Amino acid sequence: MSTEAIDPKTLDRYECAGCGYMYEPAKGDNTSEIAGGTAFDDLPQDWRCPVCGARKPRFSNVGPVGNPSGFKENLGYGLGVNTLTPGQKNILIFGALALGVLFFLSLYGLQ
Ligand SMILES: [Zn+2]
Repeated sequence: MSTEAIDPKTLDRYECAGCGYMYEPAKGDNTSEIAGGTAFDDLPQDWRCPVCGARKPRFSNVGPVGNPSGFKENLGYGLGVNTLTPGQKNILIFGALALGVLFFLSLYGLQ
């Protein structure tokens, strides 16, 4: 499985309101023989909390591991922004150089 193929949705963890058990899609659930990489949404409807037996509706989405907010946005848009950055830097550098040249030219022009 390649990193690019992972649906960001599968990274979302769900916490049990009954006992605080955290379903982590990356790990799956050994008790119910759920393989790692299984999104919470893809769990069988009769899946229950392995600790207290609560049903799926009692779980709430607490987001992926790591960054609670903005992580999915980074997955989707981070690459685009990163590829633009070197070009924007070049524009800034050449713009600064041009301004510098104009500045010196204007100084010499005044004298
Ligand atoms: Zn539970």
